[in-house]
Amino acid sequence: MKSDMPNHNRRVFMLHTLVGASVVATARQAHAAGETEAVKETDAYPKSMGFRLNTADVDKVKYPRHTLEQRCSQCQLFKNTAGESTGNCSFFKRSVPVDGWCRNFKQVKAAA
Ligand code: SF4
Repeated sequence: MKSDMPNHNRRVFMLHTLVGASVVATARQAHAAGETEAVKETDAYPKSMGFRLNTADVDKVKYPRHTLEQRCSQCQLFKNTAGESTGNCSFFKRSVPVDGWCRNFKQVKAAA
């Protein structure tokens, strides 16, 4: 039986299927290892929250109350093991860099 799908389209479909399966397998391995997927600046929800991988890149016009001292490592919603460059953000439930920022930043309270 001959398919109506031209060979080129079939190859593209097969390639997309293989790439998709590879991405799913990698995500499962990372999850099994206890790692969380990294937040991306380009993802819709982080983008709507003004998320930046580096606090120095925050839009100062859009977020006039932002300061360079505000970064994920100083946020109450951030957890990591000492010395690591990334940690888990309980707001996004994903991994963020220590120098990241979003408009949900909540300053860690100073020790009494
Ligand atoms: S909620 Fe806090 S830890 Fe999470 S991305 Fe925003 S600033 Fe960083």
